[in-house]
Amino acid sequence: MKTVFFDIDTQNDFMLPAGALYAPGAELILPVVARLNSFAAAQGIPLLSTTDAHAENDPEFQSWPAHCVRGTLGQQKPLETLLERRAALPSSPADVVLAPQVLIEKQHLDCFANANLPSLLARLGAERYVVYGVVTEYCVRFAVEGLLKTGKRIEVVTDAVRTLNPQDGAFTLATLAAGGAHLTTVDRVAG
Ligand SMILES: [Zn+2]
Repeated sequence: MKTVFFDIDTQNDFMLPAGALYAPGAELILPVVARLNSFAAAQGIPLLSTTDAHAENDPEFQSWPAHCVRGTLGQQKPLETLLERRAALPSSPADVVLAPQVLIEKQHLDCFANANLPSLLARLGAERYVVYGVVTEYCVRFAVEGLLKTGKRIEVVTDAVRTLNPQDGAFTLATLAAGGAHLTTVDRVAG
């Protein structure tokens, strides 16, 4: 089954204890995310890594602490989540680029706010999407909800996600499963 992996927002500001919007324990899933990303590369599975990319005065910072500002270390992804060959898909009008890893830049919680994402997905033509990253109850949820609308098989890797609030995270996973997403584990996906 043609598969695409979605690595959601595994950026320093969310993943590391010193990050601006740290999801507690997120650094513990870094080896798991690295394993999934390497597995994708080894299997020739396209890897789409969404990345928050905010301006310094982004309106989102009225609701959230400032995070993932362009040009800062916090906006970058930990090295172990990066493949050597990658390309960035900006949210401004741009030609769709293909590379083993495509960094989907976004200014909003919902990765589908990147207007170039649908044409990239159409070009990749996947039947199955495997989703993981941070945080479960916001950006992972938006990605899964958007992907569920495609009618394809969606899998969420429950041991490769992290949450700001454990109760919200568990509720979100249950809601996504009720909506048709399949809950799975890294061993089942990349065993
Ligand atoms: Zn953000």
